[in-house]
Amino acid sequence: MNQSQSYLPGMQGDVSRGNEVQQGKAKMAGVRDRGELHVHLNGAIPAPIIREILADESTELPPGFLIERDLLRNTPCHSLASYLTPWQALRLFPKKRENLDRISNAVFASLVENGVRFVELRSSVLYLAHLQNCSPTQALEHLIESTRNAAHRHGIRRGLILTVTRGDYGAVCLSTLLQAYQDLGEPNDVVGLDLAGDEEIAYPSELPSLFRKAKDRFGLGVTIHAGETGRVENVQAAVELFGADRIGHGTAAGKDPHLLDKLVTQDICIEVCPISNRLTGAVPFDEAHPLQEFRRFGVPFVICSDNPAIHQRGLADDQTIAIAEGLTASDLDQQYEAAKRYSFIRDLD
Ligand SMILES: [Zn+2]
Repeated sequence: MNQSQSYLPGMQGDVSRGNEVQQGKAKMAGVRDRGELHVHLNGAIPAPIIREILADESTELPPGFLIERDLLRNTPCHSLASYLTPWQALRLFPKKRENLDRISNAVFASLVENGVRFVELRSSVLYLAHLQNCSPTQALEHLIESTRNAAHRHGIRRGLILTVTRGDYGAVCLSTLLQAYQDLGEPNDVVGLDLAGDEEIAYPSELPSLFRKAKDRFGLGVTIHAGETGRVENVQAAVELFGADRIGHGTAAGKDPHLLDKLVTQDICIEVCPISNRLTGAVPFDEAHPLQEFRRFGVPFVICSDNPAIHQRGLADDQTIAIAEGLTASDLDQQYEAAKRYSFIRDLD
């Protein structure tokens, strides 16, 4: 199968087509209900809003960063580092509280256009605290309020997933986030914990047990970005050490039948992000997407969008491309129920 022909239609369009794509999505809305379990808040902000906020906050971009070249990733990248270039700018805002509200509103409007009925949004609260010059507790409170209002306005159920970044400070970050969560009375707006970041670097040895303890004590769901850079041992660690309920990407698991069996036995869901996987190179163009192996083994999976605005696409496009990657029409029909089943949000109707 020629991958570039099988699913690239529309993917290599130039940036100026963005509005047409958005309008196309709007027409698709209502056709299919969707649940979104893996989307990063700052990867879901439409480019025009990013530009407005950068201007409003007089943000100084890093040397050599060109908005026209570096803000979006809608063609395959040569490396994961190249794919992550937009975050050099995305981590510099919002400094103003009202701009967080602008972001929330724009993100939920995009979700509505994609037929999303419920979403688990993940975000780094510690970055937000740094940017907004407030405590982690205040930043979490801002995030809860802002996304709660936007979700209500757009008629979407939402839960928040708190993201911890891999690396030396992972355990400190998790403890700080959990303290903020407790300070606010363990609000049910927060539904889960996520580990993200560079899979090649180590994390403190106590981090996995801290995730498990948080899961046991607070009933939070655990999802771990793992196996995106080919490290099958990271998927194993997510399952065996972190007590993961879901795996973000998990592409490396596709080549390990024993691990696939374990995912089935333990009913662990993989958050499959087809567009992201091709753009980052997690799945090379000359290889089939492991989605086909997940299906063959009966591993639970949910199609997700990861960073839709950076891709200039949305969950509807990810589902379309998943068909090109081996999903059947019947699988697609079951996606909404699968998202409900594996969601950390309680009482979805
Ligand atoms: Zn992700």
